[in-house]
Amino acid sequence: MKIKEIRTRVVEWRGKTAPLPQHFCTNPMDLLALPQSSMRTFTFHGWLIVEIFTDDGHVGIGNAALAPQVTKQVIDSYLKPLLIGTDPWDSEFLWQHMYRKTIAFGRKGIGMAAISALDIALWDILGKSAKQPVYRLLGGRTKARIPVYASRLYSVELDELASEAKRYKDEGFKAMKLRFGWGPVDGASGMQRNLNLVRTVREAVGDDIDVMADAYMGWTLDYAKRMLPLLEPFHLRWLEEPVVPDDIHGYAELKSYARVPIAGGEHEFTLYGFRDLLEARALDYIQFDTNRVGGITQARKIAALAEAHSVPVIPHAGQMHNYHVVMASLNSPMAEYFPVVDVEVGNELFWYIFNGEPKAKDGFIELDENISGLGITINEKALESFDVTG
Ligand SMILES: [Mg+2]
Repeated sequence: MKIKEIRTRVVEWRGKTAPLPQHFCTNPMDLLALPQSSMRTFTFHGWLIVEIFTDDGHVGIGNAALAPQVTKQVIDSYLKPLLIGTDPWDSEFLWQHMYRKTIAFGRKGIGMAAISALDIALWDILGKSAKQPVYRLLGGRTKARIPVYASRLYSVELDELASEAKRYKDEGFKAMKLRFGWGPVDGASGMQRNLNLVRTVREAVGDDIDVMADAYMGWTLDYAKRMLPLLEPFHLRWLEEPVVPDDIHGYAELKSYARVPIAGGEHEFTLYGFRDLLEARALDYIQFDTNRVGGITQARKIAALAEAHSVPVIPHAGQMHNYHVVMASLNSPMAEYFPVVDVEVGNELFWYIFNGEPKAKDGFIELDENISGLGITINEKALESFDVTG
């Protein structure tokens, strides 16, 4: 089997988007105190779709969501020429070739997103060629179904927040995550508003549900240190991305207090990045996203390393490329799940691009063992609602 062609398309949503109120979600730009609501400037409404075609008629599908226009250029200019004519079964060699070819400017961020998208498409081909779901190439089932947590609660009016949290509980979710709305520039009153969000969700769902909270890189170490004791009474399962991803020492310090478990890693890359995080004892939960971290070829290695450190892996985002990795690892007890909603921050956009992504039922998703590969197709009809480049 040989790779015959590679197609990259960027799709940019051109339909309506839900309005994002002030303090909807903290993010790294908040510290700049820009006049406009900063989450509105931090959305991502574009996606990269990659298709790899083989000479025996298989099509592997991969995707990436970081800076898709530039990621497309990296693939078209640097990576596609390496792959044409090669055998997808040599996935380890191909990963190393892509990594070493782009090492001067790649390694993290866009370069690794490009490699990830291709690697995911390669694994999709391997599954289709072997007539097996991808998780069976990675070790098979470690659980009958995957427990998922509802990942949608934002910083909105408290009664609205409470009713949305209750709705997820009624739908059968045993865990859910909310976002903070305030950070260092909002002072002590912002801290109280953040606590009100957490208190509202905890009181709405009771003590039998896991509640997590996400600062999405919008805080500082100083701010997070002051928030930890205030958050402790709500026994969160974790506090996510309290500081920027480069502040490994900050993560390690917050974790060392052992007041609230610390999660992160969705903006970290490759086995090397996670080796450093694990050696620094920086995280209680690892949250790589397979379509950023280096694809399935890297995700499985990081999962093995995390297991050796007894740090669970609960990947960022739902999506099939993460679910297959979770299914094959006992050290992944749960997965994230973005409910289907109108287009807002961009997390939900994959629902509009692909067919076959599993819908949660009673707080679980299932993977069909009769579907080969990753199990998704491109919803070409839906792409009419996007501007398509490529
Ligand atoms: Mg996150």
